[in-house]
Amino acid sequence: MPRDSLHQGTWDASAPAADEVLAWCGNDGGSIARRDDLVRTKDTSVKAAVDDEEARHSRWTLCCLSRQPLQPPVVVDRLGQLYNKEALLEYMIRRAKKAASVSEHEVARHIKSVKTDVRQVTLHANPVQEAERGDIHYFPYACPLTQRVMNGKHKFVCLWPCGCVVSETGLRETCLAGRSKRELIQPHACPQCARAFLPDALVAEEPRWGADVVWLYPSRAARDALQAQRQARPKRKAAPQP
Ligand SMILES: [Zn+2]
Repeated sequence: MPRDSLHQGTWDASAPAADEVLAWCGNDGGSIARRDDLVRTKDTSVKAAVDDEEARHSRWTLCCLSRQPLQPPVVVDRLGQLYNKEALLEYMIRRAKKAASVSEHEVARHIKSVKTDVRQVTLHANPVQEAERGDIHYFPYACPLTQRVMNGKHKFVCLWPCGCVVSETGLRETCLAGRSKRELIQPHACPQCARAFLPDALVAEEPRWGADVVWLYPSRAARDALQAQRQARPKRKAAPQP
């Protein structure tokens, strides 16, 4: 299967933070590491790797706001974050009462309306049942086109017009194989539900705020780029007072 190379620079769903820890633990140019230092280093890097696994599992299975398992109806925002809709509504009520926490604001401050700022998604169940896998971490969703598991190791996208969640590779191979770049500015049919979407963002260097193809949990750099685009948008004019 061809490996996508266009977005690798900005996609870090399985960013190996443990490597950074290993680099950080390197010798400081002259001192001789003692055995207990090495043991501590090994313990630290193992713990970092375990923490990374936990974080990846949480990200792809829990609501980003309530930290509860994703439970339909699930919605996505323009930053590619997944929420339990009920948890989002509860946060918005708390926010209106000035009772929401700082951490909640950091996640969802930008959502002003559940009608326009989020979209309900359709998640495809992982065809391999948890009992069959026997893994420590089970990921309950997969791509309906390729059956790739939505576990942070494969890039996933949501089609904003219909809410279908698919792997980027599956979407490319199903919709775009053999098409010219010019054709990417034409509407295509969602391979799951046939609703039209514009695939142009699939070949962009970075995600675009408002595009029909929303990257789920992009890298920090891509997320920052999206936030900058959001803030640069012209503000909606206030309705004239009667
Ligand atoms: Zn669809």
